[in-house]
Amino acid sequence: MPDFSELTTLRVGGPAGNLVEATTRDEVVATALSFWGQPDDWMILGGGSNLVVADAGFDGNVLAVRNRGIDRATDGVPRIRIEAGEPWDAVVAFAVANGLAGIEALSGIPGTAGAGPIQNIGAYGQQLSDVLVAVDFLDFDSGEVVTLSAAELGLGYRTSSLKSGRLGVVLSLELALEDVGGQSGPVAYAQLASALGVSPGERVPLTAARDAVLALRRSKGMVWDPADPDSVSAGSFFTNPIVTEGFARGLPADAPRYATEPEPAPRVLPLGSEIPALAAPASGEFMTKLSAAWLIERAGIARGFSLPGSGAAISSKHTLAIVNGGGATAAEIVQLAVYVQTRVESEFGVRLQNEPVLVGLEL
Ligand SMILES: Cc1cc2nc3c(=O)[nH]c(=O)nc-3n(C[C@H](O)[C@H](O)[C@H](O)COP(=O)(O)OP(=O)(O)OC[C@H]3O[C@@H](n4cnc5c(N)ncnc54)[C@H](O)[C@@H]3O)c2cc1C
Repeated sequence: MPDFSELTTLRVGGPAGNLVEATTRDEVVATALSFWGQPDDWMILGGGSNLVVADAGFDGNVLAVRNRGIDRATDGVPRIRIEAGEPWDAVVAFAVANGLAGIEALSGIPGTAGAGPIQNIGAYGQQLSDVLVAVDFLDFDSGEVVTLSAAELGLGYRTSSLKSGRLGVVLSLELALEDVGGQSGPVAYAQLASALGVSPGERVPLTAARDAVLALRRSKGMVWDPADPDSVSAGSFFTNPIVTEGFARGLPADAPRYATEPEPAPRVLPLGSEIPALAAPASGEFMTKLSAAWLIERAGIARGFSLPGSGAAISSKHTLAIVNGGGATAAEIVQLAVYVQTRVESEFGVRLQNEPVLVGLEL
């Protein structure tokens, strides 16, 4: 029985119960239905790059989704269909090689395509919801395969209605991309535009966009590579908190906030400048997104920080990532996350939320 420390990018977690790897869509469906017919607990595993599992492991059935394949529509429309177990970065590489724009900024995100909608993956100004048309989904309640449109998935900033992971299994995805003669989508992230030497909103060759994103990600330990200790993580451990505009005004004047959804912004505005509203909720109050990294650093937690005797540390390249510095336990990862959360909350009154899915653990 393998341990989750071998199955997840953070390299922590105990035994993976009864693990079944399903390599075709039919096998995924048959295995899930058989699990659901048993009294035991169950969970779905993709690439394990957004999961933190307890040291006790998971005592139940684990379905590893491994069905692969990418097909381009044959009628000339720039659409692709992807089997859920396909590694996400292979999908981006396929799109770029086929001259299709819309996901090049999502280069280098680890994990499987099927997990993409679960937290609506995003980076460098693009997010899956910009291009997702629909998913084929095996529904736990009915046991039927249904096609769910993107609008039915509740996709938001690093979330969806599927994020609990217990509603069923994503079997495949359909994406609508753009064919603009080998050019990328408009570059929507200031740091990426600057690396490419263009202004935000311009297009560049797709391969240039992909290469620049991968280089930026590597510099932050955000391309998973066991040889890079700063990447032995679950990516960003905390999401950027979204607070009311009134609350944000009470923070220090230099607290950055992000001007646009969904990603950390092309423009970071100082508090007090014209309000870049994210949304007006029912109460009528405008919301704004803060920088979790800024809050953590200002709470006195620097890159590389570690609690005494713990194998868990803040990445030395990226404040938002908690890394397994070698031999860390899941308990140590959570202990550091709670420490960060507590420091930020007592300093600023903002409670950071974890981005990865926790199994058998809570903050
Ligand atoms: C170094 C690093 C960098 C990262 N950078 C980013 C980033 O830039 N942007 C970003 O958004 N994320 C990022 N992540 C997080 C992660 O890569 C994504 O969330 C990814 O989509 C997770 O895919 P996975 O297959 O590994 O999912 P897992 O970790 O295996 O699973 C995550 C959740 O999805 C569920 N799940 C998985 N597959 C399915 C399926 N087929 N059907 C139903 N439920 C399923 C699981 O049950 C679990 O609840 C990063 C992670 C790492 C380690």
